Order: sequence, then structure tokens, then C-alpha cells
Amino acid sequence: MKKKVLLLTTGGTIASRPGENGLVPAMICEELLAFVPELSEICEVEALQLYHLDSTNVGPEQWVGIVKAVRDHYDDYDGFVITHGTDTMAYTAAALSYLIQDTDKPVVLTGSQKSIYNRDTDARNNLLHAFLYASSDLAWGVQLVFDNKVILGTRARKVRSKSFNAFSSIDYPETAVFRDRDLVPFLSKLGGRGSVRFDTELDKNIFLLRLLPGMDGDIFDFLLPRYDGLIIEGFGMGGLPTMDRSLLEGLERWTKMGKLTVFSTQVQHEGSDLSIYEVGRVAKALPGVLEVRDMTPEAIVAKLMWVLGKTKDAKTAGELFLTPVQFDLSI
Ligand code: ASP
Repeated sequence: MKKKVLLLTTGGTIASRPGENGLVPAMICEELLAFVPELSEICEVEALQLYHLDSTNVGPEQWVGIVKAVRDHYDDYDGFVITHGTDTMAYTAAALSYLIQDTDKPVVLTGSQKSIYNRDTDARNNLLHAFLYASSDLAWGVQLVFDNKVILGTRARKVRSKSFNAFSSIDYPETAVFRDRDLVPFLSKLGGRGSVRFDTELDKNIFLLRLLPGMDGDIFDFLLPRYDGLIIEGFGMGGLPTMDRSLLEGLERWTKMGKLTVFSTQVQHEGSDLSIYEVGRVAKALPGVLEVRDMTPEAIVAKLMWVLGKTKDAKTAGELFLTPVQFDLSI
């Protein structure tokens, strides 16, 4: 029997047409599906138009909207395909990985670098593979399908702004690849078949501080009264300057208020390690300071919002943050 897959459309280039002021997402889901008629040989498709947005306009509100749509239709379908703009697709993929856990039914994000009506588009290939994956018995979890790759929602990153191979799996193997229409799987779901859990609470009151050489600690005067969680994206293995102590003193004030800080790195691969250098150890010694090792920046943002949506208690939040979810944290 053919599987039933629900297409949820949110906009993005894949569904865009030229408007008066540049490309805008304008196509309805039926128009998208009409470009890939062979989908009807693979599965039974139904579609729901959720948004018409450039993904620059997609954030926590839409993530929760997508979660609710999957939750409300979960029992009626075998899998879900979500078309989405590529610019923030990795954030949405990470957020859905925390908000929809232990799903045996695949939740698959895809999009394209060129609109589906372009003659040289990547949209048809990506849409076809997304449906092939969503209808496969080997599929599971929240995944991003793009340019013949199936990538964990917690590991996907947009690494190219123009080429078709726009997404990479960062510091972790891909879930699977497509060779033409054949799926070659590499990763299977951990922990057998559990029952799916949905969450809809997020705390978007977090701040990402990307360190600059010579940055002053007075930024904490601004951050302290406003935010519940802080990500500090440092240099190399991570840490804070120790010659000018103003950032360290600012962080001390922050942690005294019982707020969580996550240290990460501006380096794309291999993650942080605060235990090596003095500049790292002084930061790590402060209460409520976590290091995320090899998590992607998108996964860090989404996980911090998810964790703080559940609890503001730094100890409980910290433990939850460091508990691996869908291979997000490997070392
Ligand atoms: N600006 C578009 C978006 O993210 C880019 C794309 O879809 O490729 O919605």
C-alpha cells in the first residue's frame, strides 16, 4: 500500500516568482506539486499551505506553527515534507528536532536554490528526494533533504549561498544519500521505536554574543536586564580575554543572577574545548557556564530556546541542554 505524506508549504525560493521588488514566495502548494507529477507514483500526497514567507521572516512563531500542524495531523499520515526557504532552514530543522522528538514518522525539510519554475532548477530533484525519503521504511526523525543528501536536523548548516550543494552535515555523518532514486542509509534511529513527543514552548529571549578582538565588557549592562540565556561565540577552542578583565567581570555578574551561558566557537568545524587554555578555564569555572563542543550554531540557538522554554533553573536547564538529542552533541 502506498504511504500517505502530508506536504506543508511555508514559502521560500522554491515557491517564489519574480515580483515588483524581487523574488517573493507566491506559489500555492498545488502549483508546486504540479511540477513533480511523478510524486503520485511514490505516495499519496495531500497538502496544506501554512505560510507564504521568505525564510528570513521565519522564526519561533512559525516553528511552533509547523509543530502544531504535524502534531494535529500525525495520526493521519506516514510522513511529512515541509518546503521552506533555505536561508533559515537549518534553524527550523534544529528547532523541529527539539520540538518533535522520537518520531518514527519522518519530518523532512527541503527547498531549493532556484525557484521551481526555472528551467535549471534544483527544486524538482529536492522535492522528489524529500518525498522518496518521507515514504521510505528506512526513514525516521527530523531531517533536511537537499542535493542528494539526507542530513540530521541537528547537524545541517547552509554553507553556500548560490550553489546547489548548499547544505552540509557539520562534524557528523549524513543520515543517508540518494544515488539517483536509491536511498543509501548510514545512520539509524537510536533507542528503537519510542513514542513521539511534541513541545510548543520556546523562550526566544536569548542573545548571541560573537566576540570581537578588543570587545568591551560594558555590553553586559545591556544584556543583563533583557535576556534569559546567552551564547558566547568565542575564538578557536573558546574562552574570554584575561588581560582586559571587563568581559570576564561582566560574565561574573551575569552568572551571579543564575543565568545560563553557553560557550561556542566561531570556527566552523570540530567545536570548542574550554579545558585547554587559561582563557577557557577561567570562563568554565563560573557557575552556569556550559560548553557545547561540536554542536552547530543553529542547534545551540534552538536548543537554548527549547530548554529555557521548559525551565529557567540554570542547573536543570544545563543538564537538559547537555543531554544529547538526535545526535546533536557527539563528544
Ligand atoms: N531568501 C530565500 C528564503 O530563504 C532563499 C531560498 O529559499 O533559497 O526564503
